[in-house]
Amino acid sequence: MSDVEARREELVKLYREVSDCALCPLAETRTKTVFGAGNADAGLMFVGEAPGAEEDRQGLPFVGRAGQLLSELLGEIGLTREDVFIANVLKSRPPGNRDPLPNEIEACQPYLWKQIALIQPRVIASLGNFATKLLSGSQTGITRVRGTPQVHELGGRTVYLFPLLHPAAALRTPAMKDTLREDFAKLPALLEEPLPVPDAPEPAEAAADPADQLDLFG
Ligand code: URA
Repeated sequence: MSDVEARREELVKLYREVSDCALCPLAETRTKTVFGAGNADAGLMFVGEAPGAEEDRQGLPFVGRAGQLLSELLGEIGLTREDVFIANVLKSRPPGNRDPLPNEIEACQPYLWKQIALIQPRVIASLGNFATKLLSGSQTGITRVRGTPQVHELGGRTVYLFPLLHPAAALRTPAMKDTLREDFAKLPALLEEPLPVPDAPEPAEAAADPADQLDLFG
């Protein structure tokens, strides 16, 4: 079995595990879990927030209006949903589409880390605040970080994290739609970039004063 086939098989196992997950109270209110969908060996992975009403009904990510916009923007850069993998921070719908709660993110995040480790994308595009904050490990808001790639170790590999506005926010505010479109246009070039090398240690750490070390040895 090839490496890609083996990773795909593990992803299917993870899908089954998620489908009857009861790690948080959302298990009691959801209709279907939404694992994510697309190419199991995608170079580009999108991570949204959580399933909405339509996603909860169908068990598929981004199938409502925000999903239509996502498909449209993908088309504009010559990609289809089959080329990429689309997942969310939460695999179950929060009732009434309220924001994810910290305990829900905590319970669900191991699934996302495993998805990233198995799919091995080069670029992870985080959609909106929740995905961006979780994946960047920073509380800086999406409007400040969007459109600029960051380098992070995610799923055991060094990848580009590319924060984007959430398509649902772009639907509410026309100016945001233009911004999202401009940021999307940067994706093809980023996908061509060689995989980033892990961040070098801070110069201060790397170039410790030799005198300190001599002291250590008397
Ligand atoms: N919004 C999200 O963040 N994810 C979905 O799957 C749908 C809407």
